[in-house]
Amino acid sequence: MNIFLALLLLALGLSWTGSAHGRAPLADAIVDQAEDDPRTALALADAKLTEARQRGDGPLLVWLWLARAEVHLISEQPDEAAHDLGMAREALALLPEPVDEGLRLTWGLTQLASQRHRLPQAEMTAQLATLRPRIQALGDARLLCDLAMAEAQEKRRAGDIDGAWLAGEAYARCARQQGNPYSMANALTGLSVLRDLMVTDADGVRTSLDYAQAALIALDGYPARFRRSIIEWEIGATLIDKGNSEAAVEPLERALALSRELGDAAGVAIASTDLARVELVRQRPQAALARLGATVLPASLPVDWRANAAKVRLRALAQLRQPQVLGELALARALLDELPRDRSRSSLLAAMAEAWASQGRHQAAYDALQEAEALLDGLRGQQRDQQAVRLQSRYEATLRQAEARRLRAEGEQARLALQAEAARREGLWALIAALTVAATVGAAAVLHLWRTRRLAADLALRDELTDTPNRRAVATYAQAQAELASRLDAPLTLALIDLDHFKRVNDTWGHDGGDAVLRAFARSAQRVLRGQDRLGRWGGEEWLLVMPGTRENELDAVFQRLRTAFAQADIAGLPKPHGLTFSMGAAMLTGAHTDWMNTVNWADQALYRAKQLGRDQMRCAGNDEDAL
Ligand code: GH3
Ligand code: MG
Ligand code: MG
Repeated sequence: MNIFLALLLLALGLSWTGSAHGRAPLADAIVDQAEDDPRTALALADAKLTEARQRGDGPLLVWLWLARAEVHLISEQPDEAAHDLGMAREALALLPEPVDEGLRLTWGLTQLASQRHRLPQAEMTAQLATLRPRIQALGDARLLCDLAMAEAQEKRRAGDIDGAWLAGEAYARCARQQGNPYSMANALTGLSVLRDLMVTDADGVRTSLDYAQAALIALDGYPARFRRSIIEWEIGATLIDKGNSEAAVEPLERALALSRELGDAAGVAIASTDLARVELVRQRPQAALARLGATVLPASLPVDWRANAAKVRLRALAQLRQPQVLGELALARALLDELPRDRSRSSLLAAMAEAWASQGRHQAAYDALQEAEALLDGLRGQQRDQQAVRLQSRYEATLRQAEARRLRAEGEQARLALQAEAARREGLWALIAALTVAATVGAAAVLHLWRTRRLAADLALRDELTDTPNRRAVATYAQAQAELASRLDAPLTLALIDLDHFKRVNDTWGHDGGDAVLRAFARSAQRVLRGQDRLGRWGGEEWLLVMPGTRENELDAVFQRLRTAFAQADIAGLPKPHGLTFSMGAAMLTGAHTDWMNTVNWADQALYRAKQLGRDQMRCAGNDEDAL
């Protein structure tokens, strides 16, 4: 055993406080160790497993198997992770009742994470739906964080990018509260990729690369070679996708060096593949082949990675017009059937077309292109469906883009048919170039997103002063919930809250005093709101409260909880009790007004009445005689 590992064991042994109840800190430490070097983490897990077995410490055994599974997930070894999870389940079955619910739920979430590439979407959604209420009932902070992360993954997979943002936002609070640099970095990395998937917002100032750089900064001073290799790779891959392949070389080389140092075959493979992509852009196919090396990637690596390497190899050989490309085509065919996503398949097909064409096999090339285009067409249709549940403004913007894409594609299709004839004589290169561009965009960036399990904060959606969702974020939530409520015919109540006589607060205690009051209100409200409720700063000292599943008859209780919590809040620089109050106006989304902004207007009128009737009270649009 090397000395580093020995020291680590010692440190962990000292800080470990037992495993009978709650999460074992030792398991967390092993997972954190994987951020620097998964192999050391595994050695540590194995050493501790032996000890736990000797001591007959059942719960610790389960935690350790789960940690081991987690390390395997982090390092993309799903089969190993499945084995560990099986061991964890066996150890779990041997535990005397009552078994720690946290242990069971951690097993469930890890199991779900391990199957995330294989499970059909509906199945994943269903499993998450069973775990969600149990985790919420248990209220364990770490599990709640993991749940938020799983929700983000699930929504991301379902194509609900806005939903993924919101779930990521929830995870952000956890990552920050836990103060774990690895969570934060994971988080920012996930965001970095999500950022590229969002329809660009006019006010979105941070780019995906900014998030990735921020992740590296979060890790500054911490041992995190493995995590850094992933982020550097992300940065390189993103730069290539954005057409800046020369700038990609440095981060990719750093990723490659770190992966080599750690003996991480998967990391070496993906960094080399992307360095080979750079060589292809440079029109140096020979150098690309050299980067790829002679060996075909082992089948244990994710199929997307193997397909990416195959694509680069096909292109390089095609550019060199080497007949051995025909052998590669047979391998690519086999990969094609394994690839789960239409986008990846269509991009591999485009590379195959290029290879066929290089050998003068124009009919085969044309067929492959047709197949690729058909897959892309299907994707466009799916995209349109998914967008139907997204925000109206985004929906319209993306529809316009989709329409433009469709028109372009139709033009391409017509040109395709015409050019096919000419291509038989002249080669298919122009055609291939057109389709290759369409097929490759986005595939590489999406590929790696959930290699790591965690996802984090979108600072752009938060109000800095009060650390609550800002107007844009809470409006997004309100609108999404309104759409959901009308679709499911479920209740939804929106409320506006305005602090009473706030100008006086500023006059008496100064602007800083006013700011402290705003923060105190936000904090006290967050403490008493239920999980599904969301409070966001609407502006100044006004707040929008979104309450899914809530009817008018529950509002009084909500108001009283908020009122009491605020009255009891400590505010720096103000006397205690501070004596400040707020007024609230609420309105329920109903058949009569299903538009959320309309409902906010009703709530605003109710708020006005609350003010008129003396403040420090709640009025509801539906209940007031004077509502009309
Ligand atoms: P009312 O009970 O009728 O609501 O009385 P009010 O004094 O609260 O009236 P109003 O809502 O019009 O006043 C809002 C004040 O909030 C005005 C503005 O100076 C102050 N304000 C807005 N944003 C901030 C902020 O970020 N910090 C501080 N300290 N004050 C703010
Ligand atoms: Mg106001
Ligand atoms: Mg006010």
